[in-house]
Amino acid sequence: MRIVSIAVAPLSVPLLEPFVIASGRIDTTRAALVAAIVVDEHSNARAQGLGEAAALPPVTREDQPELLDAIARAARSCSHVNVSDRAELNRWLDAELGHSLVARAGVECALLDAISQLAGVPLCTWLGGAAPCTLHTDITLPIANPEHMAQLAVGYRARGFRAFKVKVGKQLDDDIRALERVHARVPDASFRLDANAGFTATQALQLMAAARRAQLVVECFEQPCAAEDLEGMAQVTREAGVQVIADESVKNLADLERALALRACSGVNLKLAKSGGLLRAFELGRHAQARGLSLMCGGMVETRLGMSAMAHVACALGNVQFIDLDTAFLLAQERFEGGYTDDGPKLQLRSGSGLALRELTHTA
Ligand SMILES: [Mg+2]
Repeated sequence: MRIVSIAVAPLSVPLLEPFVIASGRIDTTRAALVAAIVVDEHSNARAQGLGEAAALPPVTREDQPELLDAIARAARSCSHVNVSDRAELNRWLDAELGHSLVARAGVECALLDAISQLAGVPLCTWLGGAAPCTLHTDITLPIANPEHMAQLAVGYRARGFRAFKVKVGKQLDDDIRALERVHARVPDASFRLDANAGFTATQALQLMAAARRAQLVVECFEQPCAAEDLEGMAQVTREAGVQVIADESVKNLADLERALALRACSGVNLKLAKSGGLLRAFELGRHAQARGLSLMCGGMVETRLGMSAMAHVACALGNVQFIDLDTAFLLAQERFEGGYTDDGPKLQLRSGSGLALRELTHTA
């Protein structure tokens, strides 16, 4: 199989509400949409695959203009690449896009979508042999006025969501108030806290103590401390009495080894954009599982396209404790059709080949 062409365009989708986390804010996605055409030279069959390169500055170093530029440049040298050879595909991706993991992830996703379509199997089957599965996702409450967060939670609870990923880490007192308010309005909620690197270990432990006093069910605490503060992460892991999930601290296998050596987490959040693609996220997940860590599968702020791609990785890995594939629900427009069918928190992956997803032709 050979690449025929790679095209890239901005993927800017407005959000229903500003997405505010400890480290930043966005109102519209800042992604690049990649469309890759691959041909099977034996049968002459062609398939177009899609990928989302999802920037979320400052969580990602990259922003949209650099992504568009990097991918357009890589596209010029794509036509000789034999993508049936995984090693050759990886070498080309590293040579052209090794400097931008977000761009690499988008291009790799588009290629793997096309390759698995030509192979006639769902992407999760191509990746790890698994059949398309059903996943249950949490839903994110970005940082906002506590009463507003509680109102959002009530609305989501009515749609069937019960696990709330609550963004914290900006202002400890406000975080505590927001958690108490959400808990009061949705008493059967369970919580996954995500500080996006915003706390010291002491603050993180204070938040957990407050959550315990309020009798909240906290399933995990994601990235309480700064990415490099592995000592702090380790202290929270020892003392918080809850699973600590590394996100910003663990992007690759070397990070994983460092975190394991210091016992700095009990689990890892996998994301395509931070690992540089599906194959690397899958590999990181396999290693983490082998070392006894739990897994979360998440994303940046991504559309149905990025969420579907990560859902295929989750399905291929199996036994993923925390599914955090909700950001398509936070967007004001649907730009794609397929990938999965959703019913509240339940995502059922489509059984077609590849990602089984296509771009909607929009009229705006
Ligand atoms: Mg996170």
